[in-house]
Amino acid sequence: MSDAVRLSGAARARLEEAAGSKGEAGLELGRLTTIGCGGPAAFFIEADSTAHLEAILASASDQGLPWFLLGRGSNLLVADEGWPGIVIRLTGALKKCSREGERLDCGAGITLSRAAAAALDAGLSGLEPLAGIPGSVGGAVAMNAGAFGAAIGDLVQSVEICLGGETAVLDHDGLEFGYRSARLPAGGVVARAMLKLKPAKAAQISNLMSMFSGRRASSQPVGGRTCGSVFKNPPGEKSAGELLELAGCKGERSGGAIVSPAHANFIVNEGGAKAADVLDLMNICRRRVHESFGVVLEPEVRLLGGAGLDPLR
Ligand SMILES: Cc1cc2nc3c(=O)[nH]c(=O)nc-3n(C[C@H](O)[C@H](O)[C@H](O)COP(=O)(O)OP(=O)(O)OC[C@H]3O[C@@H](n4cnc5c(N)ncnc54)[C@H](O)[C@@H]3O)c2cc1C
Repeated sequence: MSDAVRLSGAARARLEEAAGSKGEAGLELGRLTTIGCGGPAAFFIEADSTAHLEAILASASDQGLPWFLLGRGSNLLVADEGWPGIVIRLTGALKKCSREGERLDCGAGITLSRAAAAALDAGLSGLEPLAGIPGSVGGAVAMNAGAFGAAIGDLVQSVEICLGGETAVLDHDGLEFGYRSARLPAGGVVARAMLKLKPAKAAQISNLMSMFSGRRASSQPVGGRTCGSVFKNPPGEKSAGELLELAGCKGERSGGAIVSPAHANFIVNEGGAKAADVLDLMNICRRRVHESFGVVLEPEVRLLGGAGLDPLR
């Protein structure tokens, strides 16, 4: 981490006062991501309530400090040199959910699997196809995560968004959900999401969850360290995975990273991979698909820090 990314003691103290808790300088972000590589943040701090989140965002903005909201890091590649800003993660009340009639009020930091387990306990159906996605509810809303023909946007009734020092409620239509996208206000953080579900018998919900989990296990490198789908599906008949497979990318290696032999749109950290290895594979794969099919693959994984992908020529 260069000197330019170190925060002054006064800046840290103001952030910690806003959060009501201690932060950490230079925390390695790789261990907070599912792919397990990437360098440190200048400062890492957690928000345990909407009020603390508002205060941290206001303090960062008053001090002109860049910040990034980290969910479960399951669709994220952090550069090896790290990121020169404040990384904020949600905890406490923002990782809890409760039933409100046929709705589930979720703190945005809760994982989809825990939200789905809570829905099962409450006899509420809808989250079953998404239960195996290893992200947070907030990350899922930001990316409109989906699987097996369902997406979280279909369930969202409203979200609480912190923007600077204030919080607003946006309803489903205001979020303009699209394929792996939602229209959040610039600089907005999802603090809570209200999901509209349907009553169902526990056995039925649990059978559906097992069925989707089986389908996931048979088609993805479950258990390996990955960052989920690397590229978005492009317009057209073939998925990114099919194009990558046809372009001969399966099994391609760079350092400790490999394009999964099980699914060409997943890159696996086999141990000791650097973010540069993953990025190198992304560039190779993207170039091959472009040369073979004239299709430009856009990353689904979010890149934090570093120079990003090579331009295609
Ligand atoms: C094995 C595996 C399988 C996967 N399968 C699927 C799948 O089937 N379908 C699918 O869609 N995805 C899948 N993913 C990708 C990933 O789990 C989802 O995109 C997930 O929604 C990301 O959530 P996260 O909390 O991990 O977000 P992160 O990876 O931490 O962040 C992703 C982006 O969301 C933003 N973000 C996170 N939280 C918030 C918030 N509260 N408010 C505003 N912005 C926020 C971050 O700033 C960042 O830009 C998979 C990943 C893995 C590793």
